[in-house]
Amino acid sequence: MIYLSSNARQLLKARYLRQTDGIETPDDLFKRVARHIVTVENENNDLWFDRFYKVMRNLEFLPNSPTLMNAGLPNGQLSACFVLPVEDNLNTIFTTLKNAALIHHNGGGTGYNFSKIRPKDDFISSSEGSSAGPVSFMKIYNTATEYVKQAGKRRGANMGILNINHSDIEEFISSKSDLQSLQNFNISVGITNDFMHALEEDKDWSLVNPRTNKISKTLSAKKLWDSIIEQALKTGDPGLIFLDTINQNNPLKKLGKIQSTNPCGEVPLFNYESCNLGSINLKKMILQNSTHIEIDWKKLERTIIIAIRFLDNVISCNYFVLPNIEEITLSNRKIGLGVMGWAELLILLDIPYASNKAVELAETVMKFIHEKSYNASQSLAKKRGCFPSWKQSSFAPHMILRNATCNSIAPTGSISIIANTSYAIEPLYALAFKRTGILENNTQMEINTTFIDKMKSLGLWSEQLRSEIIEKGSIQHVKNIPKHIKNLFKTSLEISWKYHLLHQSAFQRYTDNAVSKTINLPNTTTFKEVSEIYKTAWNYNLKGITIYRNGSRDNQVLQLCGFN
Ligand code: UDP
Repeated sequence: MIYLSSNARQLLKARYLRQTDGIETPDDLFKRVARHIVTVENENNDLWFDRFYKVMRNLEFLPNSPTLMNAGLPNGQLSACFVLPVEDNLNTIFTTLKNAALIHHNGGGTGYNFSKIRPKDDFISSSEGSSAGPVSFMKIYNTATEYVKQAGKRRGANMGILNINHSDIEEFISSKSDLQSLQNFNISVGITNDFMHALEEDKDWSLVNPRTNKISKTLSAKKLWDSIIEQALKTGDPGLIFLDTINQNNPLKKLGKIQSTNPCGEVPLFNYESCNLGSINLKKMILQNSTHIEIDWKKLERTIIIAIRFLDNVISCNYFVLPNIEEITLSNRKIGLGVMGWAELLILLDIPYASNKAVELAETVMKFIHEKSYNASQSLAKKRGCFPSWKQSSFAPHMILRNATCNSIAPTGSISIIANTSYAIEPLYALAFKRTGILENNTQMEINTTFIDKMKSLGLWSEQLRSEIIEKGSIQHVKNIPKHIKNLFKTSLEISWKYHLLHQSAFQRYTDNAVSKTINLPNTTTFKEVSEIYKTAWNYNLKGITIYRNGSRDNQVLQLCGFN
């Protein structure tokens, strides 16, 4: 019998369970996925089926949503992340738009860097007209996305990037200022180290027309930076991606520069490259007796070995929407194993998220996952061969690997609901909240179950507490709760941004791809603070940064109780 929360059951029913040959049960779903993934094995198929099935059924590991939705179906597209090229001509702009539609329809999300497109009102020789510019083309992509629902279940997600030296960067920075614009896009400014140095030294910065390579405008780096911060404070967009940090850590430098990430930023990819993700539920990686809870490192290692093999198999039994995607994906074989339930693990271990002990443990846990992932990929390389572009990688000649990358921290926006745990490495957003938008027109009230269990074990649970939590979403103002329990249950907005960033940094240190994290901020956060957060992100060698100031967008998926 699988234990699933009622939210998980509703979500599975609405979006994941097949309804063609009678209605699938969650158990059938995990069997369907395991059956498909095990087709890659040459021996011990029953054993591997059993392992793949059990890690999912026990909610210890889940692959990204497209794998759960599409495995075993004809033309089942299993990956979540793609990057597509955008060149300065109508042919690639509209070919990529068509390809994005095909990917969205099959459950994937797409990222693009629009920096090669000539600026708005620039000259077009073939028609003697003037050009629309990158932001206009993004609006076309956005509208197309609106009409192509992913496999009829969720809207496509896009990442749009424009580099900091593009002539149209100012228009791009404010392109989501109107909250109705570009709703199917996350936007990020592509930041270089040169720009950050110009900012530090308070120098001028030049914007360049990519068609002519001529300077179109010069302004102070600070002015440009301030306009980014102002918009981010207002709406959460734009985020930043740090292109030089990404490329310094690119294991395949010989193949060229990476210019974009997938929609939520956790996977930097070459044009046409795709990546499939999966996450280990850390809340399940514990050893527990009546008095003591600790991390079960052996179980974690076993789960990593199964998960890496699972994700490598996904590449081999995947359906690729385009030959170009197939070619580069099979050549680099990138996978992204990450985590969910980090905040709940910390609660079980009695460690407050906002503490140095938690940050140290974050490093220890991710270092372990990284090392064991690489060991597992190495063992696969011995049996199945290295990824085909391995000789061109920084791993050659000494370190064999089956996959050019192994780890990503994805947001786990849906799979953490299925696993009934906290998102990725995020702190609890609230102890109680209304969740809208999982299912259309459906609002649900939830109180975190780990919180209820903990309060019960301490003899602190009562009906009165339930009402207070529903009203406030927090225990910080509730009387008679010891201070260390209050610290343990600090929620996202009650945790200083400094700890948010320290956690992101600790996980990034041992994540070869990137870490998707939203630095959730109280409504009162200032311009100066956002500027400091973005600068600190660069100083910490993060690959990207996203913030969200509470209340700055009205269509928020999660709403804090007591704030609406
Ligand atoms: N994604 C998408 N549409 C969505 C949610 C996610 O295309 O509505 C893609 C996107 O590339 C994102 C990746 O899936 O970066 C992983 O997101 P998440 O971990 O939230 O997905 P889950 O597997 O939980 O559905």
